Amino acid sequence: MSTKVAIVTGSNKGIGFAIVRALCKQFQGDVYLTSRDVSRGQAALESLASEGLKPLFHQLDINDLNSITTAAAFFKERYGGVDILINNAGIAFKVADPAPFGTQAEVTLKTNFFATRDMLTHFMPLIKAGGRVVNVSSFVGSRTLNQCSPELQQRFRSEDITEDELAGLMQRFVEKAKNGEHKQDGWADTAYGVSKTGLTTLSMILARRLSKERPNDGILLNACCPGWVRTDMAGSKAPKSPDEGAVTPVYLALLPAGATEPHGRFVSEKEVQPW
Ligand code: NDP
Repeated sequence: MSTKVAIVTGSNKGIGFAIVRALCKQFQGDVYLTSRDVSRGQAALESLASEGLKPLFHQLDINDLNSITTAAAFFKERYGGVDILINNAGIAFKVADPAPFGTQAEVTLKTNFFATRDMLTHFMPLIKAGGRVVNVSSFVGSRTLNQCSPELQQRFRSEDITEDELAGLMQRFVEKAKNGEHKQDGWADTAYGVSKTGLTTLSMILARRLSKERPNDGILLNACCPGWVRTDMAGSKAPKSPDEGAVTPVYLALLPAGATEPHGRFVSEKEVQPW
């Protein structure tokens, strides 16, 4: 049987790094720590090696389409596909950041929504039967959903929203944010929140597509929240350690063979949450 493989984006530090650590201990296969910056990735690899863990490394900048397609080609060639993909890479502006809201909206959605979508576009065809896909979203995306207009909420919750419609809505948010019109247009006043509302909705769309197009392949795809975790993004006051933040993403990545749920859900503390 061919070697199984797991890939974690943005795993040179924070929650992604802790996910790699946990997978090295719990997953029977090769685990890839990936990083947009090779030297930060190598340093992370050495740090785990000092714990006796042996992840492998591949460069991966999700904002760079060439980096995504190069990595996808590598995993296809070397492993014939991918067993576990965890889309963890993400960004958030600090509250005190002086960048205009429109800029924050554009930059945040670029990575958290559009680049993660590019990853999924190029990696979903590689996911093997029995595979697991985990998108690290946030409870902030759920809270943001509830702050949007009834019309927007209805679209994000609907079963018939398409990937194109969702991408159009995310683009509309960026354009309205640049003109200072996003609130009048029904959006919550948070770029990070909207990016995660989009990512959770995208996860649900792609899960429905899997069920329709690959009904016998047993692939499970979910979005999750890791909790509030002490990382460079969230700061030192958060209650969870990165290892604790890794628990739910790793649980979803290692759902046992033959499991049929959760699928297409938003999961936090290993529990399906309302959407
Ligand atoms: P960190 O800022 O500590 O780590 C983010 C990671 O993503 C880093 O490795 C960073 O790399 C990487 N990254 C950013 N942009 C890219 C890119 N274009 N390509 C590849 N990698 C990239 O954040 P966390 O560990 O806290 O966050 C991880 C995920 O968890 C994010 O999606 C975040 O939104 C989510 N989350 C976090 C919460 C928390 O409380 N911490 C709560 C809810 C969700 P680099 O070092 O090069 O910048």
